[in-house]
Amino acid sequence: METDAHLLERAAATPRTLSHRELVALLSWPDARELYAAAYAVKVRVSGKAVSIRGLVECGNVCEKDCRYCGIRKGNGKVHRYVMGADEIVREAEWAFKSGYGNLVLQSGEQTGAGHTEMIEAVLHRIRGFAGDSFGITLSLGEQTEETYRRWRAAGAHRYLLRIETSNPKLYATIHPADHLWTRRLDCLRLLRRCGYQVGSGVMAGLPGQTLDDLASDIEFFASEDIDMIGMGPYIPHPDTPLGEGIPWSADAAARRLELGLRMIAVARLHLHDVNIASATALQALDPDGREKGLLAGANVMMPNITDVGYRANYQLYLGKPCLEEDPAASREKFERRVAAIGETIKWNARGDSPHWEKR
Ligand code: SAM
Ligand code: SF4
Repeated sequence: METDAHLLERAAATPRTLSHRELVALLSWPDARELYAAAYAVKVRVSGKAVSIRGLVECGNVCEKDCRYCGIRKGNGKVHRYVMGADEIVREAEWAFKSGYGNLVLQSGEQTGAGHTEMIEAVLHRIRGFAGDSFGITLSLGEQTEETYRRWRAAGAHRYLLRIETSNPKLYATIHPADHLWTRRLDCLRLLRRCGYQVGSGVMAGLPGQTLDDLASDIEFFASEDIDMIGMGPYIPHPDTPLGEGIPWSADAAARRLELGLRMIAVARLHLHDVNIASATALQALDPDGREKGLLAGANVMMPNITDVGYRANYQLYLGKPCLEEDPAASREKFERRVAAIGETIKWNARGDSPHWEKR
C-alpha cells in the first residue's frame, strides 16, 4: 500500500477508488482531525460552505416492528403512543414551507394498513397543492409494498430514507427479531429506486459485535447500491430495549460513539464524494456540538426537528435525545447561529437534492 499521507490525498482527489483494506485504514486513521479536515475539503468542493436543511416531522410513534435497539419498538410498553392526523401534518408542512425550509422529511414508526397509506397519500397531495414542485418531500416510513411506494411517489414524494442498519446480514439478525429480514430491507431499497425516488440509506455505528470491517463494508454497500443520500449515526443504547438494557451511560463511551460516528461520515465522504450526508441528531445527543462536528467531518445536511413540542418526548429512539422542548421557530434561529459559528451558511428555500442523483 502507498504511504499513509498519499492515501488520504488520493481519496480526496478521486471518488470511489478505495479498496476494503484502505477503507479500514481510513476508519482507523491515527489523526482523526487530519481525516475530518480532508473530508471537509471534499465536502466544500462538492457543495460549498453551505448546509442543506430539512424540516423533520415525527408523524407518529406507533410501530408494527420490534427492532431490538429502538425506543419506540412495539414491545416497549412504557411509550405513550401517538399518531398525527392529516391536518396536523399538513399544518406543520405549511409552517415549514412558509418559514423557508425548502423541504421536509416525514418520519414515523412503520405502519402498513390501507388507512395509513391513504392518509399519507392525501397529505402529499395537499402539500404539493400549496408548495408546488420546487418543495422537497422525503419520506422515512419504513418497509412498504411496491404499490404503496408507487402511490406515494405519484402523490408527490421524491426522496425516501430507509437505513439498511448494517450491511452485514448476520449482524442484522442479532439486532432484530427473526421475522425482520435483511433481504426484505434490501429489496425495498431497490424497489424505491425502480419507483423513481432519490434513495437514502444508512447504518448505525457502534452496534454490539460490529467491527471496522463491517463499517468498511457499509460504505462499500452505499457505493454498490448507488445510494444518493446517507443518514447514519452512532448507535445509542436505550434502557427500555433488549439491546440497550443494563448498559450504563458513561462519558467515555459517549465520546467513543461520537468519534466513530464522525469517522464514518468522514470516510463515507472521502470515498463517495458527491452524495448528501446528514449530520444525525444522535451526534448531538452525545455532544452538544455533535452536529456541527458532523458538518466539519464532511456532512452537508441537517434535519432540525420541527415536530410540535408536545409530541417530542414520545419519540425517543435512544437516551438523551436533544431539543425536546425547543419550539421550531427558536430552533431555526439557533441553527443559523450555530452554523454561522463554524463558517457555513444555511441554504433556505432549497430542495437540496443529492448532487449524485442530479448527475445520474
Ligand atoms: N421506522 C422507520 C424505519 O425504521 O426505517 C423510520 C423511523 S426509525 C425510528 C429511523 C432510524 O432510527 C432507524 O433506521 C434507526 O437506524 C434509528 N434508530 C433507532 N433506534 C436507535 C438507537 N437506539 N440509536 C441510534 N439510532 C437508532
Ligand atoms: Fe419501528 Fe423504525 Fe424503530 Fe424499527 S427502527 S422499531 S421500524 S421505528
